[in-house]
Amino acid sequence: MGEVPGSEVSVTTPEPRRRKRRRGRVTVFPNWCKGCGLCVALCPVKVLEQAEDGRVIVAYPERCTACRWCELHCPDFALFVSEVEE
Ligand code: SF4
Ligand code: SF4
Repeated sequence: MGEVPGSEVSVTTPEPRRRKRRRGRVTVFPNWCKGCGLCVALCPVKVLEQAEDGRVIVAYPERCTACRWCELHCPDFALFVSEVEE
């Protein structure tokens, strides 16, 4: 049987839409940080850690989701978060 023009059905599966994940970069100003540990305790994904001298270090920068929770709660404005392209 001959093929009927236009009868070919092409099924295309749509590409799964990749949702962009927000990423952040944390900058700490060590001179302003009093080492209270609030930001370390509040970060939901444990990006920050405190060194023995109380200094805050960005231990796992790749985890940061740019939620700004740390920045909003730092009483000394000692860190800020900028959003970065993934
Ligand atoms: S909340 Fe601010 S002052 Fe406290 S440890 Fe974090 S950066 Fe330092
Ligand atoms: S912006 Fe959010 S995820 Fe990133 S370090 Fe601060 S609290 Fe953690």
